[in-house]
Amino acid sequence: MSPPWCVFNRKAPRWISWSDDNPGRRYYRCSRARTDGDCGFYVWYDPEHTTFMSLDLHNAVWELRSKALEIAELKQINDLLSSENKEKVLVLKAQEKDLEEKNKQLVLLANKFSSGSRCSLFCCGFVMLLIGLFFGLMLGVM
Ligand SMILES: [Zn+2]
Repeated sequence: MSPPWCVFNRKAPRWISWSDDNPGRRYYRCSRARTDGDCGFYVWYDPEHTTFMSLDLHNAVWELRSKALEIAELKQINDLLSSENKEKVLVLKAQEKDLEEKNKQLVLLANKFSSGSRCSLFCCGFVMLLIGLFFGLMLGVM
């Protein structure tokens, strides 16, 4: 089949439709389609196997769309998870701050202890003295 000629006697090229209603269906369209010189000519090209082909393509297009939907859903889940992760990170950071605070308090306590080490040394000496006295008494009794 030779290609048809459009209104202005130009060879009309063949295209494949990707519309919802006619996916995969072939058609002839003015060679200046979508330009100022478009004469608006188009005619469907329907060989015998086209119905089967278009059904097949229709399924393919449908499948692709459902996959795109799936991907969009996955992306949504991913976004949700990442926002959840952000919350977790915030909680972790709060905990970290809390720990830092506690650590500071511990350091302060440690400083207090070390500054009070003279006192504790004195206490230690006092205890040693008591023990000495105790043993002394024990020995004295024996
Ligand atoms: Zn034309």
